[in-house]
Amino acid sequence: MLAWLQAGVSLADCQRRSPLDALETRMLLMQVSGLSRIQLITQDDTRLSAEQAAQLERLLQRRLQGEPMAYLSGTREFFGLDFITTAAVLIPRPDTELLVELALQQAPPAGALLDLGTGSGAIAIAVAHQRPDLKVSAVDLSPAALAIARQNAQRLLPQNPPELLQSDWYGALPGRRFHCIVSNPPYIVKDDPHLSQGDLRFEPLNALTDHGDGLSAYRRIIDGAAAHLQPQGWILLEHGYDQAEPVRQLLQQAGFEQVQSWRDLAGIERVSGGQLY
Ligand code: GLN
Repeated sequence: MLAWLQAGVSLADCQRRSPLDALETRMLLMQVSGLSRIQLITQDDTRLSAEQAAQLERLLQRRLQGEPMAYLSGTREFFGLDFITTAAVLIPRPDTELLVELALQQAPPAGALLDLGTGSGAIAIAVAHQRPDLKVSAVDLSPAALAIARQNAQRLLPQNPPELLQSDWYGALPGRRFHCIVSNPPYIVKDDPHLSQGDLRFEPLNALTDHGDGLSAYRRIIDGAAAHLQPQGWILLEHGYDQAEPVRQLLQQAGFEQVQSWRDLAGIERVSGGQLY
């Protein structure tokens, strides 16, 4: 219980006394008050109602327990779009914008693109938003994740929603071929200590780890690629900071050409891919 957090407390007092840092406090205050960032500064003598104070208290407590900001606000910005994010889906990461950029470069005009393990739909929807010429399909094993992806598609791309299917990788796609296949699959090694730290504690475990050596999703995706790529189609796979070499190896073993990796903004090899002739 925060004793100062009562009906009638001003926004200025909330900002002074919040146990969170200034940025997170501002985000929660915007959510509770409905005011913009600027209004929060120019109208900081605004007082919270009893209801708003109680709501802020609940949000502060959840954040102090470690719950990610994206789940408290219910949205996260990715590729310039505001995605609904609940605990059913991985929170979209800025790193993943690299995968979207590469997909936009490699997908041929009017081509078909497939996103495997779409989660919130961030990758598929960002690509479809930039490239209305493409036919974008996306699958996920989790019905709860697909429900969020559907909401995001409806909200962000009502005219041109991607096809969304429940599927265990290529399971629901027999005989279908794509010009570009992309994925940010679960790649964290079983029992990696990061799984019990920070935001990851609250994210869906099956979106983070393969419960194995971290490469099993890549084996499944790469093994199935020959039956689902068009001639000269590209595969682009996001991976962990130390997985570029093993993923390139899997691609080479499967007969891919032009096998290469691309670096993210931090200079880390983050996406690997290749082309199948
Ligand atoms: N990028 C996430 C992390 O390490 C993991 C996501 C994934 O497994 N695809 O925080």
